[in-house]
Amino acid sequence: MYEVKIITRFAAAHNLKNFKGKCEALHGHNWKVEVSVVASTLDSAGVVVDFSEVKSAVREVLETIDHTYLNDHPFFKENNPSSENIARYIFGELSKSLENDRLKVASVSAWESEDACATYFREGS
Ligand SMILES: [Zn+2]
Repeated sequence: MYEVKIITRFAAAHNLKNFKGKCEALHGHNWKVEVSVVASTLDSAGVVVDFSEVKSAVREVLETIDHTYLNDHPFFKENNPSSENIARYIFGELSKSLENDRLKVASVSAWESEDACATYFREGS
C-alpha cells in the first residue's frame, strides 16, 4: 500500500459534557489535523493523489468547524466534541468527498496539544 499524509490546523472552542476535569469548562484549542490517504495502486501520474486535492477536501471540512463553538455543530450535539469525535467527524466527511474505487481515507488524527492526539482509523486496515 501507498500512503500520503497532509497536516493542517484549525482553531475552535468546546466544552466536554460528562468529563471530570478542566475540559468540562469552556475553552479552546488549536488543533493539528493529520490526514492519511492510502491506495494500493498509483494513478497515471505515479501518485496516490495530488496533495492539493487532499488539502482542499480537508479545508472544505474544516471550514465547517474552524473558529466555531463546536458544541453548537449538529454532529457534536449528538457526539461530545472530544478530539476522538472530531477525528471521526473529519474522517466521515472526507470519506464522502475524497474516496473512490482506488483511494481510501486511512486515518485522521486530531492533535489537541503538542503531545496528545486522538486517531480515528478505518476498521480492518
Ligand atoms: Zn479541550
